Formats: sequence, C-alpha cells, structure tokens
Amino acid sequence: MKLYGLIGYPLTHSFSEKYFKAKFQKENISDVDFKTFAIKDLKDFSSIIKSNDNLKGLSVTIPHKENIIPFLDELDETAKNIGAVNCVKIVRSSENVDSSTIQNLKPETSNVKLIGFNTDAYGFQQSIKPFLETQHEKALIIGTGGAAKAVAYVLKNIGIDVHFVSRKTNHSTNNSFSYSELNQNIVSKIKLIVNATPLGMYPNTNESPEIPYEYITSEHLCYDLIYNPEESLFLQKAKNNGAVTINGLSMLHHQADKAWEIWNK
Ligand code: NAP
Repeated sequence: MKLYGLIGYPLTHSFSEKYFKAKFQKENISDVDFKTFAIKDLKDFSSIIKSNDNLKGLSVTIPHKENIIPFLDELDETAKNIGAVNCVKIVRSSENVDSSTIQNLKPETSNVKLIGFNTDAYGFQQSIKPFLETQHEKALIIGTGGAAKAVAYVLKNIGIDVHFVSRKTNHSTNNSFSYSELNQNIVSKIKLIVNATPLGMYPNTNESPEIPYEYITSEHLCYDLIYNPEESLFLQKAKNNGAVTINGLSMLHHQADKAWEIWNK
C-alpha cells in the first residue's frame, strides 16, 4: 500500500486528510492511505521516514514549512527561491530509479532521497490569475511568513510590485510598511491586498489585520489565504467597501492537486 501524509503541529483540523481520502474514493484510487503525523519538533521527522517505508510523499504545514529545509536532500527551484517547503517527495533506493537520483544522502535516512517543493506558490498563482486586472500593478502582502513569501514570489514573477506590512517593521523601507504607516495615500495606490497572516482564522474569527479598511474601494482585489471561515472578517470589511474578494479555498485545492502530481510523477 502506498502511503501519503501530512506533518505539522497541531493538526486538529486537517484539510489534507479529508481532501485526499475523498479523492481516493471519488477516483477509485486503491491500495493507498493518507495519515497525519502531528510532530511538534522535527527531530521526530527522520523516524517517520524510517518507520513508514511505504511513505511516498508528505504535505508540510505550520510550523515546519521553513525549518524542514535542512532535513531535505534537495529543493526544487521554486522552493529554493521562496525558502519554504510544503510538499516533500520521498524517493527510496529500493525503487527502480537511476542510482544518480539517490545521492547526498543523510545518514539518518540513508536509503532515501527527500526532495522539497513549494506548491503553495502554484496554488496561489492558479487561483488569483483569473482576477488580475491592469490596476493591480502593486500589491500589499500582510505578514512575512512562509505563505507571504510564496505569494510574493508569484506576484513578482507576474511583474507586480510587492510591498509587505509587518509588525517587525518600524520605518518604511522600499518594500515594507509598519501597520501604523498605512494611510489613504498608500491604500489608494495599492489595489491588490493579500492577507497572509493567520488573523481571522477559525476559531479567532473576530480578528482581522489592522489596516485602514475605509480606503479600500471597488477597484481593490482583496485575497485572504484563510479558507476557514469561508469569509473572514478581513474579506467582509473589504467587501463592504465594494472590493472583489477571494478566499484561500481554491489555492488549497490547487496546491494539493499539484502535490499529488509531484508525488506520483
Ligand atoms: P505564519 O508563519 O504563522 O504567519 C505568517 C505571518 O503572519 C507572520 O510571519 C507574521 O508576520 C504575521 N502574524 C502572525 N501572527 C500575527 C498576529 N497575531 N498579528 C499580526 N500578524 C501576525 O503562517 P503562514 O504559514 O505564513 O500562513 C499564513 C496564513 O496563510 C495562515 O492562515 C495559513 O493557514 C494560510 N495559508 C493558506 C494556504 C492555502 O492554501 N489557502 C496555504 C498556506 C497558508 P510579521 O511578524 O511580519 O508581522
């Protein structure tokens, strides 16, 4: 049986497990299983790889997307550029692969090659593409974590001028603002706003990033990476001012489908 899984902590509401189990059933994919591995510390990572020799691929979620990198043998170009991994392909030497594929092996997982990918970037790109208009030449990304980096990578590649809002910024730099610096001038010039913080995510649904929503207009596109709730407070406030809004559900589906393709190609 081929096994796929998810590592992260805590894993109370795993989208991945439900999504893949439903996919296996719907598409009649037999002899497969999907398992969650709630690990707080990545020191437990290699024992998961060693004790599940049928494990073919892992999704990676909070808080391990960045600190998993030193545990991997190789990164694909996108993951390397972003500096975050949400998908690991596991190639074992017992499989019928070219011996040059299995190299740079880590002693703790010596017959295995672990390759890191970032499918969040693909998911975000696929989901935002249909909504982009000419006025979206600048973007404001709220937050600076792994997801924000994937969003920035995609938008920069499209040619959009990216700015961040961060609690860690005291004075504005070329591409970064503090929350208190956001004003009418900035918000009216930047017509694409992406929430890449966990603010507003279930169960803290009464939270939203502290930005001046009153300057958001019908020319704005506001994207929240959060998908639970379906409409976060950030999206509600933006929608009340006439903005076009998108939640993170389509991104989530696209990133999972891409992971499945990577694990099985
Ligand atoms: P993260 O690393 O935990 O946080 C992202 C950033 O948010 C932090 O670096 C921080 O930026 C800011 N932040 C965190 N807590 C905050 C608070 N209390 N107040 C203000 N800012 C805060 O998370 P992530 O992995 O990047 O994910 C961010 C969000 O995207 C999560 O809600 C996650 O579920 C969602 N996501 C969705 C998808 C999808 O497929 N839809 C994929 C990936 C992630 P500063 O320190 O710079 O302020």
